[in-house]
Amino acid sequence: MRRVRHVLGISGGKDSAALAIYMRENYPELDIEYYTSDTGKELEATYNLIENLENYLGKEIYKLPVLSDESLNPFDHFIKMYNGYLPGNISRWCTKKLKLEPFEKYVGDDLVISYVGIRGDEDREGYISRKSNIQSIFPFRKNMFSEDVTTKFLGNNNIPNVFNFYATLDLGEKKERIFEVINEEISINFSQSQKLNILLDLGVKEYNHAVFHFLKTTDYPLSQEVEFPLVDNEDLLVRDDIFRILEDSGVGVPEYYKAIEFEVNGKKSTYARSRSGCFFCFYQQKIEWVWLYEQHPDLFFKAMEYEKDGYTWIQDESLAELVKSERIEKIKEEYIKRKERKQSKAQSPYLLDILEDAEGEGCASCFI
Ligand code: SF4
Repeated sequence: MRRVRHVLGISGGKDSAALAIYMRENYPELDIEYYTSDTGKELEATYNLIENLENYLGKEIYKLPVLSDESLNPFDHFIKMYNGYLPGNISRWCTKKLKLEPFEKYVGDDLVISYVGIRGDEDREGYISRKSNIQSIFPFRKNMFSEDVTTKFLGNNNIPNVFNFYATLDLGEKKERIFEVINEEISINFSQSQKLNILLDLGVKEYNHAVFHFLKTTDYPLSQEVEFPLVDNEDLLVRDDIFRILEDSGVGVPEYYKAIEFEVNGKKSTYARSRSGCFFCFYQQKIEWVWLYEQHPDLFFKAMEYEKDGYTWIQDESLAELVKSERIEKIKEEYIKRKERKQSKAQSPYLLDILEDAEGEGCASCFI
């Protein structure tokens, strides 16, 4: 049996912080290594969160070395190498250079279980490493395994094995129904996600145990573990749970999630920032740029300094244009209108509804 490392990346966002707290509370027996990758351009609240978390965990959160020369700012070093070319949706070199490559170097060829804080109310896959020695686990979701594991496990050619894995378990009254579902092949009339959801509804623990048996027959890192306590985990955690975990632990919710009131042309509303990450991140919405300008003007002007030689953070407008007072008014008005259209949704004290929709967009490495 090879040794398996258990790691958890702290992005500075609420979900990974809550996951670290959750894992410590529920699985203290797992020797988890916590790490973070600092782009050198985070908001102060992010650094505060990491410090609070270190105090809570009683353990260092290892800062991945991005550059061998620690006196250099990682983002500024790479932007020079890219001749001022700003990262964006099409070329997201920042995530690759500042997050993924340092992480892959950190784990090397070791077998690694990487815990990822994607919530049970999110419909997205997390980062799945191209390296076979890294396996992602999602403790907040009903299905804690990654998409690649699910596809292999539920593949039609694996039906006889799945049958055998389940046969070793005590399935009680559900046995007949479970075997009926296992035997039904995936087809255009019966998708993988339908099959998965029915099996999970029939028993999350049973599904986890069967997958764990299956993984023993593979090269995935979990095949090397004699036991894995999360197979008995049936929790499903959503946004409100995350805020509750952060508040109850005393670690706290980063300031930038909290709604701040503003007024435009006699109308009042609130805005906030929906994610962690670099203060100039191109994933942020225009109202978040306005928030940055009004709440942290120093950072906004620093972001502006990167816009040269025709490169801009936002595709269709420069920050110099966005910051004109009539433009800010318009962005706020449009934002209020969009928000009003979503009035039926429950309000959160931290995140604006309008921002919630966009929260899942972006980079799993940067924001979870
Ligand atoms: S937060 Fe945004 S700008 Fe910063 S590294 Fe991540 S994707 Fe790039």
